[in-house]
Amino acid sequence: MSAAVSALEQLPAPVPDGSATGLWSTTVRRVPGDLEVGGCSVSKLAAQFGTPLYILDEADARARAAAWVSAMREAFAELAGADVYYACKAFASVGVARWMLEEGLHLDTCSEGELRIALAAGARGEQLGLHGNNKSAAEIELALDHEVAHLVVDSLAEVEMVAAAAARRGQVAAVVVRVTSGIHAGGHDFIATAHEDQKFGLSLAGGAAWEAIGRISANPWLRLVGLHSHIGSQIVATDAFVAAARAILDLRARVAGELGTVIPEIDLGGGYGVRYTGADPIPPSPRDFAAVLAAEVARHSAQSGIPAPRVSVEPGRSIIAPAGMTLYTVGTIKDVHVDATRTRTYVSVDGGMSDNIRPALYGADYTAALVDRAPTAPGESGYSRVCRVVGKHCESGDIVVRAVALPEDIHAGDLLVTPATGAYGRVMASHYNILPSPGVIAVRDGRARWLIHRETVADLFALDADYPAADSPAADSPAIAADN
Ligand SMILES: *Cc1c(COP(=O)(O)O)cnc(C)c1O
Repeated sequence: MSAAVSALEQLPAPVPDGSATGLWSTTVRRVPGDLEVGGCSVSKLAAQFGTPLYILDEADARARAAAWVSAMREAFAELAGADVYYACKAFASVGVARWMLEEGLHLDTCSEGELRIALAAGARGEQLGLHGNNKSAAEIELALDHEVAHLVVDSLAEVEMVAAAAARRGQVAAVVVRVTSGIHAGGHDFIATAHEDQKFGLSLAGGAAWEAIGRISANPWLRLVGLHSHIGSQIVATDAFVAAARAILDLRARVAGELGTVIPEIDLGGGYGVRYTGADPIPPSPRDFAAVLAAEVARHSAQSGIPAPRVSVEPGRSIIAPAGMTLYTVGTIKDVHVDATRTRTYVSVDGGMSDNIRPALYGADYTAALVDRAPTAPGESGYSRVCRVVGKHCESGDIVVRAVALPEDIHAGDLLVTPATGAYGRVMASHYNILPSPGVIAVRDGRARWLIHRETVADLFALDADYPAADSPAADSPAIAADN
């Protein structure tokens, strides 16, 4: 193999090791000729539920959610306590929202759809937050109907909108001001959100945050319950969160000094990083993040003499990404000459950018493994084949995995899985090329069930006003029992 091939290209997916710091959800095991997750054979899941398919490891998702709750509760026990809001945007279904509520989390939403999922899961208003930089009047009304714990206001216009709606209803709305602190972090510019030149939040430096705080404090229909900061996504540096916490605590101290109001809460948002490939660093644990945040809150409170606030965080990805994997069937395989010395094997699968847009949207890297064969390390059995896994869409950027070493004998019909796809996959799915969205199953203790049913092409045609109903193909989803 040519020396020009990079180390990353020769990296097979690491072997699942059952650890929370690995790439695979904690119940994934390699057994002879198969992978297991949640006690279920992945080959059997493919046969029963079809591919492509999203698989969520329920025990893993619950454990990660519970780890956030216990880490925050313990770290802030001596201060004013803490709440963990699961960011529904990372993955939303009624089933998963229920898991989160059962594990003691609250739910963050940013649309009518997410709010309705949270409500259907049984969330009470005090367990809900509503985000969004352009909330509709209907979304604000729905949030007020259910007296959500807070609406996170994102602009001065929205302060007025919420105030007007609250006044009309004769109801006081609990609001949090989303502050753009100037601190930003994250793996990609598009997912860094607290720098100034972007659409989210009210600027600290430019004075809009201060203006919003003043207007809210002066309005009898608004109650200022908190200050919010979200600095980006896929962040593995605790110091970025500490810097943001300090900026928010400084602002809170200024409000206490100048307006005489002690704002009861701060919300430090989400963005806690995960591993997508073996080349990614092991991110800090919820316990690590909670400890540094609590230390900063304690230090600031001691120094300013202002009582510590209650603290919220809003993890999405770090709870649900590692719990998920996507299962595909390999189709065509093509060897392409990259240059005079290098060949890359293009492995096509039966999904692609419609079920995982992140590689195309952010240049995100993933890895992959075959279900029935362990990776072959270079030198172990010949050498591994340098592959790029691509989808079936009419777009050359339709990449699933940019570079991964897969077994030499990979062939059509092989089952291929990509780990760590539980977040921002199904929720960002598109119907490009009129592909129906894969379904989502939950696996736990040897049982599998649908969380979201597989779409069929007939489902897609149902909304095409000119599609002749008589011609609609029969639903082609395999008949599935509720449990296997
Ligand atoms: C996206 C987002 C989150 C969740 O981010 P993750 O990277 O999934 O943890 C939380 N809060 C806000 C305001 C967000 O925009």
